[in-house]
Amino acid sequence: MTLSSTTPRPLIAGNWKMNGLSAALEEARAVAAALEAEPAVARIAIFPPATLLDRLSQALEGSQVLTGGQDCHEKTSGAHTGDIAAEMIADAGGKLVICGHSERRTDHGETSARVAGKAEAAIAAGLEPIVCVGETLATREAGDAVCFVVQQVRESLPATLAGKAFGVAYEPLWAIGTGKTASVDNIVEMHAAIRAELVSIFGEQGALAQILYGGSVKPENAGQILSAPEVGGALVGGASLNASDFLAIIRAART
Ligand code: PEP
Repeated sequence: MTLSSTTPRPLIAGNWKMNGLSAALEEARAVAAALEAEPAVARIAIFPPATLLDRLSQALEGSQVLTGGQDCHEKTSGAHTGDIAAEMIADAGGKLVICGHSERRTDHGETSARVAGKAEAAIAAGLEPIVCVGETLATREAGDAVCFVVQQVRESLPATLAGKAFGVAYEPLWAIGTGKTASVDNIVEMHAAIRAELVSIFGEQGALAQILYGGSVKPENAGQILSAPEVGGALVGGASLNASDFLAIIRAART
């Protein structure tokens, strides 16, 4: 997917993580049906567990809701039990893929170099990668958050993203699934630093790449977060599992 030369519509991305059996398809169908009646300003994507990706893509075909994978391997095939190649995500109807979510970095020891390999594989398969970065509470309390995250951006984005559509999601680890949200001041400061790094790596294209915020985004705080400078959307975990909460966040996004 090639990068557009105009400011993209905000992206509201729902990461279902390891949640969802067949019945969860109904929640996604409910989101799509509501958007058919009243289209959203934002682009919408749902990242279900791999077991549901193909069925969800089929269920949402022709709707406003895209689908994507939660992770991909950096190789195209081979002896990697339990992993999924980017091409497999595309084959199952996915258009995007999350790379380097903090739960992958923490639970599976993924380094930024590996994350860059995954983003490169995503681009090769025609997917739009959403590359996650974010600091721990200890790093923030030590006053190193900006420096740490900027370095993650530098090391997690491959050069092959130039000219392609991609996003970066800033997700402070201490705000994911905890109910704690970063303050708008924290978000603005970090997104400005990420933007500066993107411009320094990719030039003019770096000025347009979307920077999403993630970490306990809910209907109650979405409007304030999504209207902050340089916030190009949200990566939503828990609140994306429920159609009415996810729709309320989608409706909070403006151009
Ligand atoms: C996430 O899964 O990326 C996330 C931000 O989760 P939550 O919204 O539940 O904090």
